Amino acid sequence: MKRIGLYPGTFDPPTLGHFDIVKRALKLVDHLVIGVGTGTGKNPLFSYEERVAMWQHEAADLTKDGGTIEVRQFGELLQVDFAREVGAGIVVRGLRAMTDFEYEFQIVGMNQRLAPDIETVFLMADPRYLSIASKLVKEVAMLGGNVAPFLTPHVAELLVKRCNEKRKKKNG
Ligand code: ADP
Repeated sequence: MKRIGLYPGTFDPPTLGHFDIVKRALKLVDHLVIGVGTGTGKNPLFSYEERVAMWQHEAADLTKDGGTIEVRQFGELLQVDFAREVGAGIVVRGLRAMTDFEYEFQIVGMNQRLAPDIETVFLMADPRYLSIASKLVKEVAMLGGNVAPFLTPHVAELLVKRCNEKRKKKNG
């Protein structure tokens, strides 16, 4: 039987930390659905379509060691309902710090009551990517800093471009 996992997130934008979680999750499941949240309420810098396209651009590299991925919109649905919709038996999340743990711990508690048949699996962030957060990467980019250590070249290029556009708009 094919093992299907769901990796949900906002991914605004996806970082090397996110990509690493996907590569490692593909050792646990045969097929991974990347559920890109619409991000309403979070005021994302990139549209849902742009974030989906970023994942798709890296798909070949992500699956080069085996497994398949699929990128899907993850809209106004509960995580566990979306997992059921895509046939996933496990939800994958990444853990960086204590702050991630507290938040995730609560969600898992709720999800266990809502859907006891779905397991959430946590992968500890790789030490190389532990300090990478989309929010901070965006702040570095807005201030003109080098984002190359945190993103793929393609995503870095799009982020720099978007920040330049934003700065231009602001200044004039
Ligand atoms: P959300 O809005 O659901 O928190 P994010 O896009 O911020 O979405 O993150 C999606 C998932 O990836 C979360 O489980 C988060 O903890 C994890 N994650 C984010 N950054 C990293 C990183 N640098 N290394 C490992 N996991 C990460």
